[in-house]
Amino acid sequence: MKFVDEYRDAGAVKKLAEAIHKSTHNPWTIMEICGGQTHSIVKFGIDQLLPEQIRLVHGPGCPVCVTPVALIDAAIHLARQSGTSLFSFGDMLRVPGSDVDLLTVKAEGADVRLVYSPLDAVAFAAQNPDREVVFFAVGFETTAPANAMAALQAKNLGLENFSLLVSHVTVPPAIEAILSSPDNEVQGFLAAGHVCTVMGTTEYPDLASKFEVPIVVTGFEPVDILKGILRCVQLLEAGEYVVDNAYKRAVQEAGNAKALQLMREVFKPVDRDWRGIGTIPKSGLALREEMAQFDAAKRFILPENPVKESPECISGLIMRGAKKPHECPAFGKNCTPDRPLGAPMVSNEGACAAYYRYRLRESVSQ
Ligand code: SF4
Repeated sequence: MKFVDEYRDAGAVKKLAEAIHKSTHNPWTIMEICGGQTHSIVKFGIDQLLPEQIRLVHGPGCPVCVTPVALIDAAIHLARQSGTSLFSFGDMLRVPGSDVDLLTVKAEGADVRLVYSPLDAVAFAAQNPDREVVFFAVGFETTAPANAMAALQAKNLGLENFSLLVSHVTVPPAIEAILSSPDNEVQGFLAAGHVCTVMGTTEYPDLASKFEVPIVVTGFEPVDILKGILRCVQLLEAGEYVVDNAYKRAVQEAGNAKALQLMREVFKPVDRDWRGIGTIPKSGLALREEMAQFDAAKRFILPENPVKESPECISGLIMRGAKKPHECPAFGKNCTPDRPLGAPMVSNEGACAAYYRYRLRESVSQ
């Protein structure tokens, strides 16, 4: 199949792996920030093709994993209100809040619905004016434009029964937080291609030079990822702390102007709590004041109960690249996809789910 097979081609993979071996003369720790890339790396065994000196660590780029428990509890609270319909993307339904998850609340009778587009929630709100419709808007720069469009469409339709419970996060501040940490070991980054498709690469050069790390925009197929790693290794070995684009077929330096305009029209940067990691300044997006009528956090009184997290879950360490999933004592034992203790075991982009799906046997035997 064109555009997929060529990026999984065994011969191309072998050549790139050989080039990485030839280029590597020193030990390097490289982080892929995106959960989709983590899944590809683990699924295709890309890390196992690399020289021993290259350590790949997994970053916080799973949107479901970093959604704070307080907001999941808020979504559960809203879903339990009679007359309310709560919409979200699939993975969010199974992520544990303090006590239950949204799927359990749905089984108890709440109107919780899975959608693939926030515009479906807007359409439902237009057709059901007697119901309060809340869309749980999570994700990175990749989902923010569509959610912004949903808010604008609700405004244009004059809807009074639609709102967004917003938990958007943005990637560059997370990279800055990781690099600022006193125990940081990351020396190079693979930046997520789909995020850069929207935001471009203009925010990265300052980070690369300030922290002296190369940042390489990277795609998701094995050939893409190996190309990104090769370029990152070449820059590290040369001591060049710049931004490079190894995913030119999708990413332009300026990003997608229309999507960025939509985001800026509807959202503003705010400090945001990341589950397992803590608050990262200016790392979130919230609805602007002029969109307040569509802000569920302003429209409803949300619970402020203290949140509860599994004391066994070390997801914060995993998402900062300090530990791998199989180093969590609960991995594959107390924590499985059927009975997850933390979000990274649930989400399709979660690192623990990737190791459970593709590496369980070898992980448990270690
Ligand atoms: S294996 Fe489970 S408990 Fe451990 S870090 Fe991952 S999600 Fe948390």
